[in-house]
Amino acid sequence: MRPKILLVEDEEGLILTLTHRLQAEGYEVETAREGDQGLELALHSGHDLIVLDLMLPGKSGFEICRELRQKNLGVPILMLTARDQVVDKVVGLKLGADDYLTKPFEMAELLARIEALLRRVQIGRGPKMAGVFRFGALEVDWQAGEVRKDGELLSLSAREFRLLQYLAQYPNQVLTREKLLNEVWGYNAMPVTRTVDVHVAWLRQKLESNPRFPSHILTVHGLGYKFVP
Ligand code: CA
Repeated sequence: MRPKILLVEDEEGLILTLTHRLQAEGYEVETAREGDQGLELALHSGHDLIVLDLMLPGKSGFEICRELRQKNLGVPILMLTARDQVVDKVVGLKLGADDYLTKPFEMAELLARIEALLRRVQIGRGPKMAGVFRFGALEVDWQAGEVRKDGELLSLSAREFRLLQYLAQYPNQVLTREKLLNEVWGYNAMPVTRTVDVHVAWLRQKLESNPRFPSHILTVHGLGYKFVP
């Protein structure tokens, strides 16, 4: 079955472009041009994902988000915001959006986020990793929270372990610093993407054979990081 996406957006040009592109990617698309209609459709039409603009006539994206979560609808929400204000992002995420994108955005970026959100729903919310995972000289026991390098137990902080866990959950995919910050640090964290860089550096020091030329946690210039098992 084709995933069904609800697009709540009031910019006509963007509606046309997005609808066209999403359909070309194999999604079924339903659109609402103002907030109240958006909420109504979201409540009753069983979508797999909602792309929700923040500034809308009628109910705002924030209100829609809050009402859906209050009614316990767990559908993934990707917020679009024209305002690049940290406070908006944080508030949006607190109200239950799963991800956000600031306009103008690259279509490829939007598609990647949509795919990631849909995939996350499929494998369940949050990481459910079991067993022992081996890559290179490393061995990770997810349940015990233990990481060994050449058989020797490493001392990782909880945050480093969580970061590794998240990276390993999405192998060979580019993960932006913002994404990592949101997923690993949580919504209450101060959104300073430098934090991510610092922790990645620490993790590399512990895991990589040659931290200066990492072979598992790679930097994707201008985008973020990629985990290669
Ligand atoms: Ca708008």
